[in-house]
Amino acid sequence: MFCPKCKAMLSLNRATGQRECKRPNCNYSEDKGEEIITKRKQKDKEMVVTEGIEGTLPTTKIICSKCKNNEATFYLRQTRAADEPTTRFYQCTKCKHRWREY
Ligand SMILES: [Zn+2]
Ligand SMILES: [Zn+2]
Repeated sequence: MFCPKCKAMLSLNRATGQRECKRPNCNYSEDKGEEIITKRKQKDKEMVVTEGIEGTLPTTKIICSKCKNNEATFYLRQTRAADEPTTRFYQCTKCKHRWREY
């Protein structure tokens, strides 16, 4: 490794782990560009539960407001804040009408 500025041989600074130029009026040092890993502890605010996977959802006896069918698949989904109750979503097995429980 040579200094890109003055072409002198770079020496490794053991303290920082970076290569530096020792020439007094150069002082080039290789910037490692520290990776700042910001691990945001993000609570899973939205739990997507098997949405769209047809045939795997549990069914329940409920009357569809559209076609009066008495069976619908349902799944639970937590909306926004974790302290809010989970919302139950239904999908009619017959007409595929979707609604949610309020
Ligand atoms: Zn240099
Ligand atoms: Zn229906």
